[in-house]
Amino acid sequence: MVGAGVAGLVTALALAPRPVRLVLRGRLGGDGSTLWAQGGIAAAVGGGDDPALHAEDTERAGAGLCDRAIVRLVTASAPEAIVRLAAWGVPFDRTSAGGWALGLEGGHRRRRIVHAHGDATGRAILEALVEQARRTPSILCEEDARLVGLVRDEAGIAGVHVRRGDGHTEYLPARRVVLATGGIGGLFPATTNPPSALGDGLVFAARAGARLRDLEFVQFHPTALDVAERPLPLISEAVRGAGAVLVDEDGRRFLAGRGRAELEPRDVVTRAVWAWRRAGHRIFLDARRAPGEDFPRLFPWIHEVCLRHGLDPRCTPIPVRPAAHYHMGGVAVDGCGRSDVPGLWAVGEVAATGLHGANRLASNSLLEAVVFGLRAAEDLARDSPRPAPPSRAQTPPPDEEDALGRLVPIVGESLGVERDAEGLRRGWGAVHALGAGTVASRAGTLALLLMIAAYRRRESRGAHTRTDFPLVASPLGRSSFVTLELLRQGLDGDGHTPEA
Ligand SMILES: Cc1cc2nc3c(=O)[nH]c(=O)nc-3n(C[C@H](O)[C@H](O)[C@H](O)COP(=O)(O)OP(=O)(O)OC[C@H]3O[C@@H](n4cnc5c(N)ncnc54)[C@H](O)[C@@H]3O)c2cc1C
Repeated sequence: MVGAGVAGLVTALALAPRPVRLVLRGRLGGDGSTLWAQGGIAAAVGGGDDPALHAEDTERAGAGLCDRAIVRLVTASAPEAIVRLAAWGVPFDRTSAGGWALGLEGGHRRRRIVHAHGDATGRAILEALVEQARRTPSILCEEDARLVGLVRDEAGIAGVHVRRGDGHTEYLPARRVVLATGGIGGLFPATTNPPSALGDGLVFAARAGARLRDLEFVQFHPTALDVAERPLPLISEAVRGAGAVLVDEDGRRFLAGRGRAELEPRDVVTRAVWAWRRAGHRIFLDARRAPGEDFPRLFPWIHEVCLRHGLDPRCTPIPVRPAAHYHMGGVAVDGCGRSDVPGLWAVGEVAATGLHGANRLASNSLLEAVVFGLRAAEDLARDSPRPAPPSRAQTPPPDEEDALGRLVPIVGESLGVERDAEGLRRGWGAVHALGAGTVASRAGTLALLLMIAAYRRRESRGAHTRTDFPLVASPLGRSSFVTLELLRQGLDGDGHTPEA
């Protein structure tokens, strides 16, 4: 198991008492996006709600690209997932009558966001799961162990290379590997993700021959706090669910009259915010009237962050801007988290299951990570052993020149909220101009894979907006799949690299 966010920990715990070796970069409980998740986890557990309604909302947000069977499976499993997390000790907030306290977020037609400690749901989930993992003797946890390569042979996955904190690289033979390495937001200049979210698992899976799915779909959150920090603190969608509205510097509510206004799905709100910002306006989230005085009680963590930046949301509108937030794309997996490389599973944000389609519905990602963690564990438990992998030492991979400082602005320019062919060609050329070392590096490879997927989707759908192809090609879309082979063929399939 690689990675110890919600996806990795749920998988490891559900496998107990079967032995699991859990390797992660950084310290247990101290890294990954799970720690930062705020709003909560979606489940149809309220009165008047139904998993079928949750499924409809998920598909509506997904803009014609969701896998209907997966959507049904995940939304139907959601109430049980909440019960399972609560049994592991997650202190979800309750009403005075003892039921789940439920929040509302964009794209949901019912209150169905289960949360903990108000707006610190991710931290509460992670702390409870870490505590369980520490008490579970079958989980051998290795901190400061960064995955730097997957090893495969003709029978499939044969092991992993991990680099220890002291710089030493070790080969660990394994016929079964679960990737739970999270997302890619660290590749973007304006991001809510921790810097470690660099898509390592995605690239290593691709190098091992796995197909990657829907890479072009990167979700930009409309309301990150507009301050000079990286990552940008998130102002959860739940704040809009509690009544806050988006205004410009003149107090104009520029989304008024558009469908459900601030509570439209994320891609719709982000595009509106982006366009208004591009027209020269500053954008604010005005929470003065609602939730007003309730702000500190409902959103204690966000309130504290705002105060730290000299803003009291009860009396000052909060400056916000869009930021890269979540990756719908990932390692293509089936309904049990299996990739198409024998012995390789992927769960959580690194995977693409087909649940989110072109645009994730708010609070469906923690849910997907839990449901697929449980399903992958069941599948692994059923999996029959294959021939033992070679135990002899393998040549460790070389250090990679990521040149992140130069790569990140290029990614921001060409793969932002709005894209077009010219910008993507320029970005492709600029990455190549950084030199062979960077092009072949993890982050360089990831940037190029995203660019080729974005270039090939000649339509605007969900989170992928092409200004040169502004329409949806057909109501029912098709997922895109890429492999490393495509990179060799070049953007236009002719192997040619345009000048930067
Ligand atoms: C600010 C913020 C708020 C969010 N709010 C919500 C919300 O309210 N509801 C919701 O559903 N979703 C939310 N999300 C999204 C959600 O938090 C993530 O999609 C989810 O937590 C991902 O879990 P994960 O286990 O896949 O990855 P992560 O939690 O990111 O964990 C990844 C793990 O992999 C490890 N790792 C990475 N690379 C390597 C490597 N090379 N070698 C070894 N280990 C590695 C990391 O150290 C970490 O342990 C939010 C995200 C952010 C950033």
